[in-house]
Amino acid sequence: MNATTAGTAAVDLVERVVREFIDDSSANSLGGAFREPAFCNPLVGYANGADPLFPALKESAGAGHWTPAEAFALCAGEEVAPDELAVISWVLCQTQATKADNRKQDLYPSERWARARIFGQRGNVELHRIMIEKLAGAGIEALAPALMPQFAVCRDAHSGVTSSWSERHVAYVCGLGTFGLSGGLITAGGKAMRLGSLVAKVRIPPTPRPYDSHTAYCLHYSLGTCGRCAKRCPVGSINAGGRDIRACDRHLQPTTRDFIKAEYGFDGYGCGLCQTGVPCESRIPRQLDPARRPAPAPAPDDAHGR
Ligand code: SF4
Ligand code: SF4
Repeated sequence: MNATTAGTAAVDLVERVVREFIDDSSANSLGGAFREPAFCNPLVGYANGADPLFPALKESAGAGHWTPAEAFALCAGEEVAPDELAVISWVLCQTQATKADNRKQDLYPSERWARARIFGQRGNVELHRIMIEKLAGAGIEALAPALMPQFAVCRDAHSGVTSSWSERHVAYVCGLGTFGLSGGLITAGGKAMRLGSLVAKVRIPPTPRPYDSHTAYCLHYSLGTCGRCAKRCPVGSINAGGRDIRACDRHLQPTTRDFIKAEYGFDGYGCGLCQTGVPCESRIPRQLDPARRPAPAPAPDDAHGR
């Protein structure tokens, strides 16, 4: 199999595995009395391991952020040229029922939202494992950086919370979306979603990035309007400067953890109020959606129907 054929086969396999997870997997479940899927409408994007945005993430996402080659070397113990690696990133959208429930909340998360955060995310972790296994079956070595034992979350006074592998930043490089005022990634399926990713030793054509700025899909950053996410935040942790991660963290734990235990009866935390009831909840805001941009006017000769 040549490199092009292997890349095409890998894309087919990845997209089939994600689709099967969404449609058929018992792991894609809210659990408890909610006999319904946690996620729907998946999106997948790809980047080459040599994309210059990956080393640049050491500036924007934290000095300890790995490049794909660093993650691969750490996990597989093998030095691989960056351009021999692909990064595969996916979006799992929250369901309509989960979003509708959370829109009604003004302080704590709905039970569906909290369940998607805990039990849905467990399923997402399982999806990483399934994907690695299926790729291995096709002769492609792959790993999940965020699940590696070396993965670390760092908290420092200067940059707040950073990690070895930021799913949001990786999804941005993979053409899946741009950042909003609240810090979430606004994708074609909106901001109410969860992300996952792998690094694989295969060449896959990168997904085009239909944006020229890392905040292109946010109404606040692009048009100076909106700010709905700031109004939705129950603890005032979002303002014109972005999100105060520490204030958000304090609300998540212990406040929502205590509430979820007392009211819903399981250990967990979550909020997502800034991800629901906002214009970017389920889509790129219409004014900024590249898919809705008017087609360019025809050149003068074309206009006269040559
Ligand atoms: S709610 Fe508005 S301001 Fe906040 S991230 Fe979405 S588009 Fe940007
Ligand atoms: S997750 Fe909740 S607390 Fe954190 S910024 Fe969003 S609305 Fe505020």
